Order: sequence, then structure tokens, then C-alpha cells
Amino acid sequence: MIYDVMTLFPEIIEGYCSYSIIKRAIENKIIDVKTHNIRDFSLDKHKKVDDTPYGGGGGMVMMCQPVFDCFNSIEKKNDFEFIMLTPQGEKFNQNLAKELSQKDQIILLCGHYEGYDERIRLGLKPREISIGDYVLTGGELPALILIDAISRNIPNFLGFDKCAHNDSFSQGLEGYLEYPHYTKPREYNGMIVPDVLLNGNHQEIENFRKDESVKRTKTRRPDLF
Ligand code: SAM
Repeated sequence: MIYDVMTLFPEIIEGYCSYSIIKRAIENKIIDVKTHNIRDFSLDKHKKVDDTPYGGGGGMVMMCQPVFDCFNSIEKKNDFEFIMLTPQGEKFNQNLAKELSQKDQIILLCGHYEGYDERIRLGLKPREISIGDYVLTGGELPALILIDAISRNIPNFLGFDKCAHNDSFSQGLEGYLEYPHYTKPREYNGMIVPDVLLNGNHQEIENFRKDESVKRTKTRRPDLF
């Protein structure tokens, strides 16, 4: 999977991608994350990428020219998806993460300021995606959330696939929340690891985890049933 991120702040994307599991996946060539600085495509002598809105009102609006030229400069694979990050888009969830993990390439457009000149939507026809009903200052965090959540569904991204299979929501939105985890020590501040996890009986452990998963989902997210 190749991610091409169109942004005014490539360092934010590059910073996150240089740690932990994502970093390892890039080194192992399971994914690739390329950044494209929209400002580099501005034809303005001051490298301007935004301007005031027609009709007045506060804030600045991202201009068409640098965004169109940046998009057109990206080499496209046959099976690519072009995504605009916006609070006005379809809501991102695990099912969408799984669906997008099947693509060869995902191009992500990060907005800033008041958002985009509407002709970017009309001309480039992106799929519009929101990470939730709240407004952030820029599209970089949403882009990273997509990259992270989508990549977990790519074979070998996690090292071994079993983990992603057990994650909360992994059976789709009708699935259960994941069971609780414990690690060493066996006792901490008077809190003890349930005996069943220590007896080595795999069937009993599996039953325990399934029961805990169901209990947890019923109390925390009854809407998932
Ligand atoms: N004025 C815009 C509106 O009301 O729809 C919001 C612009 S927001 C301040 C700037 C940028 O942050 C957006 O263009 C988008 O790229 C990103 N952004 C903010 N909230 C987001 C969300 N919930 N999901 C995805 N992207 C978001």
C-alpha cells in the first residue's frame, strides 16, 4: 500500500511515521508513506496557498491552483482512492478501514484554515471522509488516523495477523469489544490476574475471553448488539 499525503505540514506526517510499528512496516516495505508539500506547487512568488473568502467572513480558504497541481503531480496506480479529510465527510470506522486496506494506493488531502475552495471538491471529486463530529485545526491528525487504522488490516503489518483479528470491532461494527488483557506481575496493588488465564487450558481461556468480550460490549456499547 502506498499512501500519498498532500499537506502543508509534511513534518507532522513524517514525525508520526518514524516511530514504532508504522516505522517498521515502512522499513519492511509493507507500506510506503510519501508526503507532498502543497506549498511547493504554489505559482505565487510568496508561495501563497490560501486567500480570503469571496463574500467576506473570517478565515482563509485553501486555493485551487496549488492543490490541483499537487494532485496532478502524483503518480497514480490503477486502484487508487483519493480522499479529502473534512468534518463534512462520511464517518470513518473499522469497516471503512478494512475496505480501504484493499486498495493499492491512497491519496490523502489535508485541509487547513477554514477549509477548501469548493472547486477542489467539484474538480477533483474526492471521497470525503470525517474522523468524527468535531472540528480540528488541520487534516494531518485525521490523515494519520486513517493511515494507522487502515494499515492494521494489511497482511503482515502487525508482524502476525492474529492480533488485528481480535481487536475491538474486528468482526465489523456488529462485533464485540475486545476482552481485557493482563501482563506480569500476577498481583499488583492487591489486584490479581484471573486464575483462568494462568491454568494453561486454552479452551477455558478462550471461553473466559469471549464471555468478557460480550459483557464488556453489553455494558459499554449496547448499540453494537
Ligand atoms: N470550516 C470547515 C468546516 O466547518 O467544515 C472546517 C475546517 S477545519 C478548521 C480545517 C481542516 O481540518 C479541514 O479542512 C480538514 O482537512 C481538517 N479536519 C478538521 N476536522 C476534521 C474531522 N473531524 N475529520 C476530518 N478532517 C477534519
